[in-house]
Amino acid sequence: MNFEPSNFIEDIIVKDLESGKHNLIYTRFPPEPNGYLHVGHSKSLCINFGIKEKFHGKCNLRFDDTNPTKEDVEYVESIKEDIKWLGFEWDKELYASDYFEQTYDFAVKLIEKGVAYVCDYNADQIRETRGTLKEPGQESPYRNRSVEENLRLFREMREGKYADGSKVLRAKIDMASPNMNMRDPVIYRILRAHHHRTGDKWCVYPMYDFAHPLGDALDGVTHSICTLEFEDHRPLYDWVCEQCEFENPPRQIEFARLNIKNTIMSKRYLKKLVENGNVDGWNDPRMPTLSGMRERGYPAPAVKEFCARVGVAKANGEVDPALLEFCVREYLNANADRAMVVEKPLKVVIDNMADDEEQLFSVVDNPNNENSGTHNVVLTKEIYIEETDFALVPPPKYKRLVEGGMIRLKGSYILKHVSTELDENGAPKLLHCEYIEDSAQGGVNAGIKVKGVVQWVSANKCVDCELYKYESLLVDATDEVTDFNDRLNPNSLEVVKGAKGELYLDEGEVGKSYQFMRVAYYKYAGKKDGVSRFYRIVSLKDTFNK
Ligand code: ATP
Ligand code: MG
Repeated sequence: MNFEPSNFIEDIIVKDLESGKHNLIYTRFPPEPNGYLHVGHSKSLCINFGIKEKFHGKCNLRFDDTNPTKEDVEYVESIKEDIKWLGFEWDKELYASDYFEQTYDFAVKLIEKGVAYVCDYNADQIRETRGTLKEPGQESPYRNRSVEENLRLFREMREGKYADGSKVLRAKIDMASPNMNMRDPVIYRILRAHHHRTGDKWCVYPMYDFAHPLGDALDGVTHSICTLEFEDHRPLYDWVCEQCEFENPPRQIEFARLNIKNTIMSKRYLKKLVENGNVDGWNDPRMPTLSGMRERGYPAPAVKEFCARVGVAKANGEVDPALLEFCVREYLNANADRAMVVEKPLKVVIDNMADDEEQLFSVVDNPNNENSGTHNVVLTKEIYIEETDFALVPPPKYKRLVEGGMIRLKGSYILKHVSTELDENGAPKLLHCEYIEDSAQGGVNAGIKVKGVVQWVSANKCVDCELYKYESLLVDATDEVTDFNDRLNPNSLEVVKGAKGELYLDEGEVGKSYQFMRVAYYKYAGKKDGVSRFYRIVSLKDTFNK
């Protein structure tokens, strides 16, 4: 096999394949089912499943469900759906809780080896005796209990003889270790909590640092890829694998988390937004969750492309959200059909058309796609153009319609302004225009020079639309205001009612995305009371500075 590595993790993998250390590369994605996946997780997904795909290996989905009070099946289901949406396929669906019995047996084994003991300290006492980065910790007075006593106490912990938090099982490593994680870390705790899979069977639960390496090793994972904050846990990870005597233990490799400027990347805080009603659930289109991005209309390939462009690094950094938008825009530009929508309609009467006259113009669905089809737009005597595409008093360099001026209707004729009707405030209420015969594409008058091209919609053959415009959930952090709670953007959603769209919009299924020409990319979100709702996916303008 000859694989070109594209980052430091793949370098390691290629070496392990070449040296014959491994023949099959095995990774896993290990979410805790305590919330929905966010865009940060997509990076981990792309790394782990990307390695599976590139090196023809395997990748499991393993739920790290060792924290029963925070976890729920709702999250399990959402996580599976989100991974499928990204187009990844896991080999096995596993749960840390499936190994509770084996995990318990390994803990017994450690006790028997004399490297684990039951400690009667409570959480405060453990913290207080842990020492600091400068000072060693103090050994627990329970540290030298006999193997027999430890075995009995641990069994009794499992049997429910002791109150929650009154005893723990600790690894007996080194209270003077410069690495705090090695100072006799807790590996089992007593907790009477209902577990979403094991019910009330257990009242002792393993700690993540114990369950995680065991899960990896038992599953045959070769490379256990995690984020940088686990770097200091690696010695403990290796200690567990060694003490449990795994022959070819997994290797933990850390990479930098994905951080996006102005974007919340913590399930805990995202959950708060949901609970406080700041958003309409985990899949609110403003949420940086995978389900939110899907609801918003972000295409899965764009999210993956974003992860690829961010790359895999060993140092933490912050990515500009404009890069994600750039990827979304790039994908939609190539894949979204064009449609005409007028946000703030201004009525135009075409005086030289008959009342019931209809003229059809064929337009290409997506000029950026070679295989694109066509659809018709219908021109009638009354149409709408965008309010801002006409000016009574044009500002300098104005390129649209003015009194007595001409403009091209996108995909159709050139229109010539005749007269303006004003409302009581003196604002244009209605325009009278004439179309210029034979000025459509291919016509003898098509070459007449006009200042601009505008979108338009037939006034009686159109779709009533409501546009949901999203802005960032957070306003920019300043030195004084860094707390998320104080940075919530009160204008993160604006709903524009009364927009009009061409009939083609009624043909698409819910979820289809469009480029509303000269407006933005929008996703069709369904009809309510006869009005079609569209979510703004991303603006047309690129703010990303390559
Ligand atoms: P959160 O802090 O949001 O709860 P987490 O790290 O606790 O995130 P897990 O469910 O434990 O969430 O994460 C599953 C996997 O996704 C882990 O391997 C974790 O390292 C990775 N991951 C989580 N957040 C990010 C991120 N921002 N960038 C890259 N990988 C991430
Ligand atoms: Mg976590």
